[in-house]
Amino acid sequence: MSSAGQREALGRELYELVRELYPICRSITGDGVRETLQRVSGVVPLERHDVPSGTQVLDWTVPDEWNVRDAWIKNLAGERVVDFRRHNLHLVSYSEPVAPRRISRAELVEHLHSLPAHPDWIPYRTSYYQRTWGFCVSHKQLESLVDPEYEVCVDTRLAPGALSYGECFLPGERDDEILFSAHVCHPSLCNDNLSGIAVAAAVARALAARTARRFSYRFLFIPGTIGSITWLARNRERAARIRGGLTLVCLGDARGFTYKKSFNGDAPIDRAAALALAGQPFEAIDFFPYGYDERQFNSPGFRIPVGSLMRGRHGRFDAYHTSADSLELVQAPQLAAAVDAVLAIVDVLEGDARVRSLAPYGEPQLGRRGIYRALGGESDPEALQLAMLWVLSLADGEHTLVDAAERSGIPFATIRSAATLLERHALIEAS
Ligand code: ZN
Repeated sequence: MSSAGQREALGRELYELVRELYPICRSITGDGVRETLQRVSGVVPLERHDVPSGTQVLDWTVPDEWNVRDAWIKNLAGERVVDFRRHNLHLVSYSEPVAPRRISRAELVEHLHSLPAHPDWIPYRTSYYQRTWGFCVSHKQLESLVDPEYEVCVDTRLAPGALSYGECFLPGERDDEILFSAHVCHPSLCNDNLSGIAVAAAVARALAARTARRFSYRFLFIPGTIGSITWLARNRERAARIRGGLTLVCLGDARGFTYKKSFNGDAPIDRAAALALAGQPFEAIDFFPYGYDERQFNSPGFRIPVGSLMRGRHGRFDAYHTSADSLELVQAPQLAAAVDAVLAIVDVLEGDARVRSLAPYGEPQLGRRGIYRALGGESDPEALQLAMLWVLSLADGEHTLVDAAERSGIPFATIRSAATLLERHALIEAS
């Protein structure tokens, strides 16, 4: 857990990262993804992979690469009334090229998307796997288009290239891995994708700085769906070593945490998340097969227990997939608190152990061993004493420290401290 000053500085740094990444036009492929990975590499070194278009990945195919130079709609006076350069959400992602041409208002409107319920907001739309073109506009903009004809231009390039993703691997004592993934495929949307990218980068940097790691850690910065499918297709053996993980999404808004469980709901990652988030308002929800890349990791062929940590929920907050998911929606302290939450989950995974008592017949006499004196310097000696009794009670070689925290309701960190103290006095050992 970081100090208040450190947390404030971290929040500011992550917000600044979000601000820098915000203008970049990202999609599932293209220069925007690589520019984003490049910038994240300044926080934690990433290895970049470029998988050629046309590559078969599980049941999918890596699509052509998409890049945008410009896109606009001009009125009869020649003014740009809709301009990609003003907001990248104006262009439907993966729009096919359209050479400048005049079209009737009626034809144009068939290619426009707006949100009548939020007349000032621009929606976010994609058309990855069906070739078409379109513009997204505020409903007010749509209503102001009264000329009989307009000129449109979509200066995009859809051509064989690569799907790029970033990866950071941190080896630990064990080959068993914990996976974190963040999607990097949304354009100017802050909470939905940039907050997760920033939090994942900061967690990776913090874990890279640790001198000892029991588990190995893998961080993926990947385009949604096709990115995780591509990674899984290329890494079947590694996938089998993943013991659990999290997708990190929508972590910058004002809401409390929501933890979406893995498919079975009772994996170590699920229990670690519940313990680490206890003590603050959070909601745990069951797995469902839509949302983010947890869908792919939990699919029946893999069944990798990957949960999802978020604040605003997929599709459930007003600003979701609109221009209102902007820099105003994301808050620096919320980003920093999300990093702390993920690290607290990691600490449960790292600190858990199956323990066996070395004095299992009756309660060992703690006073005789000077343990009570050792408690004198502790901040909450009573809680620690109670935690010791719980650990000793469960130390049959079958139960774990996570079991002890769950059954006692005592914070995992206190249970872990108690176990360390008992180990030091040769009363328990890891079994
Ligand atoms: Zn999204």
